[in-house]
Amino acid sequence: MQQVMTAAPERRAVRVQGIVQGVGFRPFVYALAHRCGLSGCVRNDAEGVRIEVEGAPGDLECFLRALVGEAPPLARVEAVTWEPLPLAGDSGFHIDASRSAPARRTLVSPDVATCGACLRELFDTRDRRYRYPFINCTDCGPRFTIVRGVPYDRPLTTMAGFAMCERCRVEYEDPANRRFHAQPNACPDCGPQVRLVDPAGRELQAGADPLRQAAALLRAGAVLAVKGLGGYHLACDPCNPRAVAALRARKARQDKPFALMARDIDDAGELCEVRPEEAELLQRPARPIVLLERRPGCRVDPAVAPRQRTLGVMLAYTPLHHLLLGEAGLPLVMTSGNRSDEPIAYRDEDAFEQLAGIADAFLVHNRPIHVRCDDSVLALGARGAAFPIRRSRGYAPAPLRLAEPVSRPLLACGAELKAAFCLAREQHAFVSHHIGDLQNYETLRSYVEAVESYSRLFDIQPQAIACDLHPEYFATRHAHEAAAVAGLPLVEVQHHEAHVASCLADNERPTGERVIGVAFDGTGLGTDGAVWGGEVFTGSVREGFLRRAHLEYVPLPGCDAAVRRPSRMVVSYLAALYGLEDMLRLPLAPLRDLGEREVRCLARMAEQGVNSPPTSSAGRLFDAVAVLLGLPGAHRPTYEGQAAVELELAADPEARGEAYPVPLRAGEGSWIFELRELIRAIVEDLRRGESPGRIAARFHVSLAAALDDCCRRLRDWEGLGAVALSGGCFQNRLLLALLTERLDASGFQVYTHGRVPANDGGLALGQAVLADQRLRRGG
Ligand code: ZN
Ligand code: ZN
Ligand code: FE
Repeated sequence: MQQVMTAAPERRAVRVQGIVQGVGFRPFVYALAHRCGLSGCVRNDAEGVRIEVEGAPGDLECFLRALVGEAPPLARVEAVTWEPLPLAGDSGFHIDASRSAPARRTLVSPDVATCGACLRELFDTRDRRYRYPFINCTDCGPRFTIVRGVPYDRPLTTMAGFAMCERCRVEYEDPANRRFHAQPNACPDCGPQVRLVDPAGRELQAGADPLRQAAALLRAGAVLAVKGLGGYHLACDPCNPRAVAALRARKARQDKPFALMARDIDDAGELCEVRPEEAELLQRPARPIVLLERRPGCRVDPAVAPRQRTLGVMLAYTPLHHLLLGEAGLPLVMTSGNRSDEPIAYRDEDAFEQLAGIADAFLVHNRPIHVRCDDSVLALGARGAAFPIRRSRGYAPAPLRLAEPVSRPLLACGAELKAAFCLAREQHAFVSHHIGDLQNYETLRSYVEAVESYSRLFDIQPQAIACDLHPEYFATRHAHEAAAVAGLPLVEVQHHEAHVASCLADNERPTGERVIGVAFDGTGLGTDGAVWGGEVFTGSVREGFLRRAHLEYVPLPGCDAAVRRPSRMVVSYLAALYGLEDMLRLPLAPLRDLGEREVRCLARMAEQGVNSPPTSSAGRLFDAVAVLLGLPGAHRPTYEGQAAVELELAADPEARGEAYPVPLRAGEGSWIFELRELIRAIVEDLRRGESPGRIAARFHVSLAAALDDCCRRLRDWEGLGAVALSGGCFQNRLLLALLTERLDASGFQVYTHGRVPANDGGLALGQAVLADQRLRRGG
């Protein structure tokens, strides 16, 4: 028998890629190497983590398996590769200081909510960080919002200015410590400090505890600006109607709901019904705002979310929040710190300038915010699956995996509203945080800066640029300029095709999969020059999409003016249906409100096509129906999509009722959903005194039925079994639920959004994958 010999030792260089920096990966490797009895070293570099290990082959194998299987909770290991090295004969295992290398392939982690261990210390009177608002460790704390460059190390974060004290340094250097290489590590002796100041920057009652004072002000009804992770919030007591009214008036925000922050899941449960899936969403490390059903008898002032059944609630996610909410003994309104329409303030000087007229006092600190990043918003959709409405803090800049690598690095510029861009390289799509509506200088600057910062951070030099067809979008103009300057190919992608592709990429579907794509949306430029928005396509990301059906065209009187004043759309639909004189005799409140002169003028504009392009927008149809029903926020909406939101809210959940007729007629090259019978039926129901709640419910049922019918016909015709749902209208949970239910019953595979929003915030992802395929086809 052969004698078992100890196999000769080997040395290997191991490369780990993914989200492996700033998540406690090196201490994990250190502990693991010790456990496996290996010598060597580990360090961060610009491509991720590089490890050298030496020992018996069996131990090395063991080490490699555990490297993936036991990785720390916040890490995302995407690839582990290794190559042999000559033996070094070193003893022990150590951690090298980071070094920057030319290639930057590392991923930056999103910000992470305070972990359980840090929370216990925060409230432990014997702990040296008792009540310290910046406590953190390798499992939690700020990341993306403080990172200035890679590799992720203290000198390249906004913590660079704080020198660690002796005790913090010892923790930072001790591989057995929870704070080993935690870059934002700090304590009351050496780290950032909070201050409470008046709008002029003068300290309020120096010497007193700023957090206790801030809490006392909030309880007394004050509005506070609170510096957070990705920007400033405005905070007040949500149960104090005077405080809420003051905040609304000063912020010039009439109806758009304010988000709330609760200390923990129990406090959230006192405000809202929290289902188990929602509790899971609330407690994710990203701590998104989750839309929850308001609890009957909940004391929150109705003006926090006028006429809504839901409240947007998030849980405290920084130690400062935990302390402030704990001291206040209240949930708080925590809405983005901006004047209406401006992006959230994140630089201290800007915050004081922008918010001086809004906040009574400022709770600030001296750790700079490097990246502006709003709170993310999620809701629970059909079949218990969550979908994002805004993907930002806690999610960005983690990349999304693509089903297929892109053929070259590319930049997709997104749309005008809810702007977010996408940089794609190989199998990764980096969809940016929510940047906002590209309609003021501050947001435009922030967009351009973010594109630069992402390409630097992730080392992506685009070889092609994708954008929308709409020539007036800032993002489109930016794309044209950037392509011209760098001499890169530019690919223009139709808006609603991009929505459908975005949904497929969101679901990691193979690019060759042929589907029916439904894009129900606000507006986007079509290939025929009309304003599209109620579209059904067939095709695949690889081959592109063909328009198979759309909502009937009606004039969009005054273009954007019709978006701001939905009553214009009512005239448009009714004029087409009844003719001007008969329409004027209809006893309809919205027509009376407009007045005969304006109705005539709009009807003439529409008829003669003056500044009234044809539109098939589903969003505008929702607007018109909301106005017809006389819903309070529909006539003069104060935020984008308000009329449609109120139509969904108005729908009586008990009264689904029968569908109104929406016949599908053959048009030139595609089918057309006729709307005249639908509008006529609604007007007749109104004249008969039917309740708006019932009509709104039937309207939703009608659209679901019409779309299901259209999808079944397309299946019969082209043999397609899957349907992708995208576009802003699918944030409407009633429409989403009704349609999903029907399509399920018809035997379709249904794809809905889960990783990026169905609205324009997810558009860039679709632009990227479609542009890549078009470039491949082109050569
Ligand atoms: Zn922690
Ligand atoms: Zn310290
Ligand atoms: Fe859109």
